[in-house]
Amino acid sequence: MIYQNRAEFGSSFNSGGKIPLGLQRKGLRIVVTGGAGFVGSHLVDRLIARGDSVIVVDNFFTGRKENVMHHFGNPRFELIRHDVVEPLLLEVDQIYHLACPASPVHYKVGARFLLTSTSEVYGDPLEHPQKETYWGNVNPIGVRSCYDEGKRTAETLTMDYHRGAGVEVRIARIFNTYGPRMCIDDGRVVSNFVAQALRKEPLTVYGDGKQTRSFQFVSDLVEGLIRLMEGEHVGPFNLGNPGEFTMLELAKVVQETIDPNAQIEHRPNTEDDPHKRKPDISRAKKLLGWEPKVALRKGLPMMVQDFRQRIFGDHKEDSS
Ligand code: UDP
Repeated sequence: MIYQNRAEFGSSFNSGGKIPLGLQRKGLRIVVTGGAGFVGSHLVDRLIARGDSVIVVDNFFTGRKENVMHHFGNPRFELIRHDVVEPLLLEVDQIYHLACPASPVHYKVGARFLLTSTSEVYGDPLEHPQKETYWGNVNPIGVRSCYDEGKRTAETLTMDYHRGAGVEVRIARIFNTYGPRMCIDDGRVVSNFVAQALRKEPLTVYGDGKQTRSFQFVSDLVEGLIRLMEGEHVGPFNLGNPGEFTMLELAKVVQETIDPNAQIEHRPNTEDDPHKRKPDISRAKKLLGWEPKVALRKGLPMMVQDFRQRIFGDHKEDSS
């Protein structure tokens, strides 16, 4: 993908100091790859709300038009169906790269590039909680390694472009995130449990359920991404909620929130499943002034409301 900073073209947004600085910041043009996806669409909402112009680039593999439809007709919103592995020339100030496939990107000048990496770069961690300085424990030939190694390579490429070509970059390592608009059937544990409880199906706990994850509400992540993009630090930064839960504890929270009678059914776990994961967020706290605000028990009901609506549509089977 080829991105060009709009300042190169003498854009009115950067017209040599004619516009007061405070106002300039409001009118950025921003690309969000994967902007029709779960996290991307929430980020787009925030950027549009504060007055930026947003170009969403999405191939709709997992993104959905419904997630951004409410912006159709807004002159500051554009949607491009496009796969980021193909070149695309756009004049922009900032790029939030949320689209998942690691892409062979080419950068020209100026635009600041934020890579959304993942806690999966730590693999099955031997350090707990995980600090950004930990190099991880990834099985390079395992079933999950295409994702883990893909993101590790994306971090490497991002840093190489930063060091070699002077590209302004930011790297976020995102921990498990949940919230409204999450794909209902893509198999993540929170979406599975919520959908299963709503459909009166048993909650499928993989393995003994003692493995842990730390779940972050999507609005906290979006706040962290924006602070990272606008701040002066490259990172990488862990963005996650340090509240750690076993899968059995998560099942319990889902039961309390949706249906106390929901059954639990154990299934064999997937290969190479990380045993525990919890972010150390001291770096983000100190340098970005960021920390999550929404605890799991507060955030889950907001996701449940959205799932209820999407699963049952108009004829709600359960009105609680
Ligand atoms: N998991 C589970 N039941 C499910 C889906 C997942 O117990 O229906 C477990 C899975 O084995 C893993 C954890 O939940 O230990 C988190 O899985 P997820 O795919 O949501 O996230 P990731 O493994 O990428 O952190």
